[in-house]
Amino acid sequence: MAESYDVIIIGAGPGGYVAAIRAAQLGLKTAIVEREHLAGICSNWGCIPTKALLRSAEVMHLASHGKEYGIAIEGAVRPDLSAIVKRSRGIAERMNGGVGLLMKKNKVDVIWGEAKLVKPGEIVVSKPAKKPMQPQAPAPKNTKGEGTYTAKHVIIATGARPRALPGIEPDGKLIWTYFEAMVPDSLPKSLLVMGSGAIGIEFASFYRTLGVDVTVVELMPQIMPVEDAEISKFAQKRLEKEGLKFILEAKVTKVDKAANAITAHVEKKDGSVEKITADRLISAVGVQCNTENLGLEALGVKLERGAIAIDGYCRTSVPGVYAIGDVAGPPMLAHKAEHEAVICVEKIAGLNVHPLDKALVPGCTYCHPQVASVGLTEVKAKEAGHDIRVGRFPFVANGKAVALGDDQGLVKTIFDKKTGQLLGAHLVGPEVTELIQGFVVAMNLETTEEELFHTVFPHPTLSETMKESALDAYGRALNM
Ligand code: FAD
Repeated sequence: MAESYDVIIIGAGPGGYVAAIRAAQLGLKTAIVEREHLAGICSNWGCIPTKALLRSAEVMHLASHGKEYGIAIEGAVRPDLSAIVKRSRGIAERMNGGVGLLMKKNKVDVIWGEAKLVKPGEIVVSKPAKKPMQPQAPAPKNTKGEGTYTAKHVIIATGARPRALPGIEPDGKLIWTYFEAMVPDSLPKSLLVMGSGAIGIEFASFYRTLGVDVTVVELMPQIMPVEDAEISKFAQKRLEKEGLKFILEAKVTKVDKAANAITAHVEKKDGSVEKITADRLISAVGVQCNTENLGLEALGVKLERGAIAIDGYCRTSVPGVYAIGDVAGPPMLAHKAEHEAVICVEKIAGLNVHPLDKALVPGCTYCHPQVASVGLTEVKAKEAGHDIRVGRFPFVANGKAVALGDDQGLVKTIFDKKTGQLLGAHLVGPEVTELIQGFVVAMNLETTEEELFHTVFPHPTLSETMKESALDAYGRALNM
């Protein structure tokens, strides 16, 4: 007889494994099915290994500027690529192992293999139909294997994979996805990056810091198209100072391949075509949800723009079937996946939960300088009919940033003129991916300017720019 659970989760990424832990905490008999790697894309090929690479780039940047800090470094500062990659892979492995331990600690059964829903509440786990895209991590000990399993509730958390443009499909050699870009065996001399979203910009920043000649091609009129235009412009200027090149309002229409280089045909807004030759091309044009081979069509689970359609509690169109994380649509971010996981499981357990407010999901890009934001951009706030006040405070006027030798950046805050409510915050500069959470909490509590004025910020910290930006929106900035 098929082994039976309260909840089975398909996919052990940040959405899936967090759902499993919360379900187990709530006393539900829980299993999680994974075909490739515990901890998903995030820890194995996404958030964490990229941050490890970027940290190496940051150390290289600091070491190259040692003299400015009074530190003499003998000889040339140069990257040891294999050691950088080894460090990043070691960190990914550690995270992967950590999730294995968490499953064990929470008594979640791990079922190793590829899952397919054959009817509501029944899944069949078999050997993956296709060879995994990347070497498969070894199955953790004490896992269950192929077979049929039943559950009252099935949560789909199968994530996403790189999107490919027709005719410019990644080949793993000359045209890379984030998989190959994360484990290069040698440093290309030149690189073309297609797409300037967070993934494209982070790789562009990493390779540029290591000395690679990098050009980024972006279809939209600004880099990091979801960000506030002013912040995006600021970041672009800083990145250009570091030597990055951008071609905006342009698209790669064709790629010619030679033995060890590509030539991209870049079509610009005016219709002209520039041919750019580079050693490698990184395709960073977004991701595509993993909805195939799950039995969704037969079950009648509705999709919307390629993602599984869900309501505010992650319920799909079929009772007993839920979807969370990347497979349930944008924003494709690990923290959104984790938050949906908790909402979904708590609703299943009958707790009183609030649906996710996507407007309060922060976004971060870990290039140098970093970019982070939450809430409405200036344009979106106006489009939404708000009469607004905008505050700006530059890091160059912040003592801590000056002491760090990292004083280029801006904190921009947007308030509703009538109510004083904070509508959005947009930051570029040092450690802003850490600072943003202050604004996220504030917005979650529906903060107005008054509460920010009454909040004491420690000195000297980068966070003082947040209060100063709010003060500036009301003509009261103190250090500017
Ligand atoms: P995933 O992490 O994709 O996990 C899905 C899991 O399901 C996988 O392990 C897969 O093997 C498994 N699976 C799929 N189908 C089946 C099946 N049929 N049976 C069994 N198992 C299956 N987000 C951030 O928030 N911050 C960042 O800094 C960040 N950086 C990123 C950098 C890169 C290069 C990339 C690619 C992504 C980055 N992301 C970042 C996005 C983040 O990785 C994803 O949003 C997150 O991993 C989504 O989690 P998930 O649980 O929905 O899916």
